[in-house]
Amino acid sequence: MQSSTVLGYPRIGPHRELKRALESYWDGRSTRRELEAEGARLRAGTWRRLAELGLDGLPSNTFSLYDQVLDTAVMLGAVPERYQAADDPYFAMARGTDGLAPLRMVKWFDTNYHYIVPEIGPETVFKLDAGKPVGEVREARALGYETRPVVVGPVTFLLLAGALDRLGEVLGHYEELLAALAGEGVEWVQFDEPALVQDRTPDELAAVRAAYERLGALPVRPKLLVASYFGDLGEALPVLAATPVEALAVDLVRGPVPPPLPGKTVVAGVVSGRDVWRTPPAAALAKLRAVEADRVVVGTSCSLLHVPYDVTVEDGLDPGLRERLAFAEQKAAEVVALARALAAGETGGAAGTVPTRRAELPPVPARSPYAVRAAAQAEHLRLPPLPVTTIGSFPQTGELRAARAAVTAGTLAREDYERLVEAEIEHAVRVQERLGLDVLVHGEPERNDMVQYFAEHLDGFAVTAHGWVQSYGSRCTRPPIIHGDVGRPSPITVRWAKYAQSLTAKPVKGMLTGPVTIVAWSFDRADLPLREVTHQVAAAIAEEVRDLEAAGVSVIQVDEPALRELLPLRAAEQADYLEWSVAAYRRATGAAGDRTQIHTHLCYSNADQILSAIDGLDADVTTIESARSGTRILDAVTGYARGLGPGVYDIHSPRVPPVEEVAGRLAAALAVLPAEQVWVNPDCGLKTRTYPQVEAALANVAEAARRARAAL
Ligand code: GLN
Ligand code: ZN
Repeated sequence: MQSSTVLGYPRIGPHRELKRALESYWDGRSTRRELEAEGARLRAGTWRRLAELGLDGLPSNTFSLYDQVLDTAVMLGAVPERYQAADDPYFAMARGTDGLAPLRMVKWFDTNYHYIVPEIGPETVFKLDAGKPVGEVREARALGYETRPVVVGPVTFLLLAGALDRLGEVLGHYEELLAALAGEGVEWVQFDEPALVQDRTPDELAAVRAAYERLGALPVRPKLLVASYFGDLGEALPVLAATPVEALAVDLVRGPVPPPLPGKTVVAGVVSGRDVWRTPPAAALAKLRAVEADRVVVGTSCSLLHVPYDVTVEDGLDPGLRERLAFAEQKAAEVVALARALAAGETGGAAGTVPTRRAELPPVPARSPYAVRAAAQAEHLRLPPLPVTTIGSFPQTGELRAARAAVTAGTLAREDYERLVEAEIEHAVRVQERLGLDVLVHGEPERNDMVQYFAEHLDGFAVTAHGWVQSYGSRCTRPPIIHGDVGRPSPITVRWAKYAQSLTAKPVKGMLTGPVTIVAWSFDRADLPLREVTHQVAAAIAEEVRDLEAAGVSVIQVDEPALRELLPLRAAEQADYLEWSVAAYRRATGAAGDRTQIHTHLCYSNADQILSAIDGLDADVTTIESARSGTRILDAVTGYARGLGPGVYDIHSPRVPPVEEVAGRLAAALAVLPAEQVWVNPDCGLKTRTYPQVEAALANVAEAARRARAAL
């Protein structure tokens, strides 16, 4: 291999060209051929840019029209029967069709990227179609570039599909793939095996050994690079080292310098693909020099998929901050510069700065015992049994989004925008009153996004104009950047909360995003541990809680949908994480008075895995997704002692659930929890639905609650 490489690159396009091309194809405004032409243009642009930057190890097959795991499934012929007759089976699997639900989508390790979970069953007959990787190799070659195709490795692919028992069969097809790529004259192939940085059983490690011994033994094949990332290979390292693979990629940002690897090439991932900071050269060069191997190639810690394209277009950022930042282009350039410095024997000057130390925050406050609070709240709020509420957002109209853009562009006066927001709040409140809901929300019309909104109002955060990162398919987010100490210069939500409460005698929930979610969906700063940053955010949210309380808001919801996302990949580190993250939540909410009812919302069906952590949040009421996951959550919550609202309406679908269906879900909750603990609510926020859908569905939710109350 050459001296510098990246494990992967963004593919949505510097101006989200792929998003537009996908949406146009999905809407029937363009053809599959036009979509593919746009893909080819984006790939060509990436290779050209990386070559211009001086990178000599160019990857290919890192592009995808939707997801690289889905691409791998399709490459191996794992297309479930029911999708085969669809007009476009690939997008039918990714997004569903009128008659077909899509495949499941899950977060890619501890990132905010989502992959499509392959469905492999006894009926799956694997069959290789190497068209995509081979096609990209040829396409690059026609442009004058030799590339290293990147494919999800067999062990990770099967672990994600829950089908490691099919390894023997699948390896036959990977062998065929290697033969096909050898036939194209490909020198190196990269197999991505991020699943190997997680705890693996002895059987799984044996599967790793078997896989790479078998692939390595092929007489005619390209050289093999097995890429690990998002952590340390741990026990999988000696296993891989003992196989004939020629190269290993290791994450030296999150993991240590590996023990000597004689005879191997090591792609040393010293430039982080998970943050947006420039790489301090001295520290990176010291790590690179410490690697003992046959050959050291400078690389990124993982694919650059998880960072935006280019920081130089961010005119709105403070120049002092911008010069400390590196997005994908800048990171690729750093890889090249480090490779040159390494070859020239440079040291990169003085070692990096010492992490900043901060004065300790005060201890985390503790609330009164739950029974005391529950009594005070019952007295104060006087809610009926089985209270009905929603999760926070109401449908966001295109008009409102356009108005927000117009304020930013300076074509709409702020006061006019605020009138619009008020009208929207009033509308949402009236709808909820008419439907007979018990605890209302203001509907969040003033928020573009539940994290960005707070980031825009807190010190220590910067937001970008073009810093889009792919979340799934055509969907991108623009994560804020935490660059300094977090503080809250002035109240953020109080104005809207007060306005909403002034419209009705029913309690309206104050609505805040929790500290863990704010940091999880932002780029972290590099010079302070995440726990400290999170606790700073928590202290700012605590000030907001205090001000809401002072403004007479008696129910405050602090959402933590991302609590589970930051869970470390290795079991040994999880308890520590859960302890500090739960403590951050209690810092944000723990000073609330007994009469103030604290709600939290978590949106995933596998919350049962962290139920004890949820208990540790000590919220008075927890609302949680459950409409689609059957009784999974309910099985786990027997004995749970506080308020719980398992979702009875699946908001991810435009479908309006009939009263009987909602009543059935409510009955299931009442079968495992005492009625005085049960809340009635949808699975998640209603932002992506329309008012007609929401009103019809909530009417049925309210009716189911009335029937259940009558039967108590
Ligand atoms: N309060 C937010 C909303 O209703 C919660 C969103 C979420 O759980 N992701 O939109
Ligand atoms: Zn949710």
